[in-house]
Formats: sequence, structure tokens, C-alpha cells
Amino acid sequence: MERILSGIKPTGQLTLGNYIGALKNFSKVQYEGETFIFIADLHALTLPIDPEVLRNNSRDVAAYYIAAGLDPKHTTIFLQSDNPSHSELAIILQNYLYMGELSRMTQFKDKSQKMKEEAIGLGLFAYPVLMASDIVIYDAKRIPVGEDQVQHVELARDLVKRFNNRYGDVLVMPKAEMVKVGARIMSLSDPTKKMSKSDPKGDIYLSDSLEVMRKKIMSAVTDMGREIKYDVENKPGISNLMTILSSLTGKSFQEIENEFVGKGYGDFKRAVADAVINEMTPFKARYEEVIKSGEIDKILADGASRARKVSELTLKRVQKAIGLYNK
Ligand code: ATP
Ligand code: MG
Repeated sequence: MERILSGIKPTGQLTLGNYIGALKNFSKVQYEGETFIFIADLHALTLPIDPEVLRNNSRDVAAYYIAAGLDPKHTTIFLQSDNPSHSELAIILQNYLYMGELSRMTQFKDKSQKMKEEAIGLGLFAYPVLMASDIVIYDAKRIPVGEDQVQHVELARDLVKRFNNRYGDVLVMPKAEMVKVGARIMSLSDPTKKMSKSDPKGDIYLSDSLEVMRKKIMSAVTDMGREIKYDVENKPGISNLMTILSSLTGKSFQEIENEFVGKGYGDFKRAVADAVINEMTPFKARYEEVIKSGEIDKILADGASRARKVSELTLKRVQKAIGLYNK
């Protein structure tokens, strides 16, 4: 059975982008292998975050995983910080990734852009090292992510190649995989920018009420003209809404275009809002149930102990391969 691994950072309220590009897909692929889905709380520390907010967000991400259909009996759901092997391996792996390649990472450039160099944390820079560790510690082969994380998985691949060239076949080669439609949902207020939970402009939050979701979609930025057509360059706003509609309904872009011939943006946006609400109504209800069930802590504790069992073996293998004494 191949191992599948992914995670979400508890940095803020999850967005519709996280839902379409990550969450929904996790629950779809989970039974195709032995699946590990974690809450990336150590990664959430790479930018300042209030302790109480981090704690609440972490619980929320866990609840959203289960609400989205992740099955804790099959899928190992856990907190990154509950398994120290990730961090231990990262200390080793940091010696096999280089300053040059880390400084070329888009996420690092984006997130450090507005900061003074002396205020940029080392953790933000070294983020891909810990992420590579998250992946290889489980010998994971399939890494379902949104488009923005593919670059980090590619770097993890470079690291595995470099490491194995030196020490033999020690680490398993991972591969990023994306949803066909919706791997990069854009902001509703600026459809040239990714919808991000840490950048509140143009987001739909999973915690928004259904009415707020509808309002946000109805007031999404659209483009010149009145045609419903998938054309990212000239119609980024409409194309983004079409992507949302297509990913939630399974309709192709062509089918959507045909359906809205001769109709205006208003009709189209109403259909997008209906699809979002249709999807979110049961999902939000399940989220409330999970929060009330009081089961989250037990699921996370079980997950952590399952995760540790697997990762300890990899850590030993790596320690031995590189010559740590008595391992
Ligand atoms: P942050 O701003 O803190 O980086 P984020 O919204 O980018 O938040 P992450 O925790 O970095 O969320 O990413 C979790 C998963 O969601 C990743 O697989 C990522 O690729 C995916 N993802 C994030 N934003 C989008 C988006 N707009 N469309 C599709 N997938 C997304
Ligand atoms: Mg991100």
C-alpha cells in the first residue's frame, strides 16, 4: 500500500481554496493508500501567531478534516508537534538543502516580501526543510497539495535524490499531485492573487455563514463584457468562479459555458453561490457535530501514536545510514 501524506497549517480560518484544493481531495483519495493527514502546527509558527489562536485553529483544522470525510479509523490524523520525529529528522535534513535553493522558493519570497531582512525568522526560510521531513519520515509517495505547494514537494524530491546518491536507497521518492480543477482558487476581490487564509482579501471562509458566502460571491470582481467564458488571461474573475463551480458540481467548463449562453453575470454568480451553499450546508453541519462530539482529542492522540510508530523506523534508518553512533 502506498503512503499518502498531506497537511494544512492552522494559521487562520480555512478558505474555500483550502477546501477545494486540499480538504475535499484528501477525503477522496484517502482509501487509495495508507494515509497520513496532519495539522501543521509547527509550520504555523513561521509567522507570528497568538497562542490561543493557534490552539483554536488547530482544533478547527482537525474538526474540518473529519467534517470533510476523513475517516480516523483509516486515516492517521494528528498534530505535527505531537510527533517529535519530524523535527528530529529536519535537523538532519537541513544539511542537504542549500541556502540558494531555499531563497528561490516562491512562498518564502511572498511571505518575507514586506519584512526587513533582520526580522525574517529562520523558520520561515527553512520551512521546506521541515516540510521535506514531514513527507519522507512516513516514506510517503503521494503528496496531494494545491498548486502553490508543488514547488516545496519538488525540493523534497531534489533532497531525496541528493541524499540517496550519497547513502544508498534510504529515502522514498515523493510526488506532488493536484486536483484536476481547483488547485489554485483565486481571491474574489483580486483574481490574479491566490485565495489565502492569511491574506483576508477576497476570501470565503469555511466559518462564514451561508448568507455571507452568498454575498461574497455575488460581489466578486468580474471582468469586462458579459460572456461566461473560461479565459484566465482576459477573464480571470469569471474563470475563477467557473473553476469553483466546476470543482463542486463536476460540470466541465464547456458545459458551464453552454448553460450560460445568453445569460448574464448575475445568473451565473447565483449558480456559483447555489453550488457553494449546497456543498457547505452539510459540511458545516458536520463540523458543528464534530466540535460538539468531544472526540477530537482522542482522535489526535490515537493518530499521534500511530504516526510515531511509523516514523521512528524511518528516523532510525536515516540515523544509521549517516553514521550516528550506536543507532
Ligand atoms: P497561508 O496563507 O497560511 O499559507 P493557505 O491558505 O495558503 O494559508 P496552507 O496551510 O498553506 O493554506 O495550505 C494548505 C493546503 O491548501 C495546501 O495543499 C495548499 O496548496 C492548499 N491551498 C491553499 N490555498 C489554496 C487555493 N487558493 N486553492 C487551492 N488550494 C489551496
Ligand atoms: Mg500557504
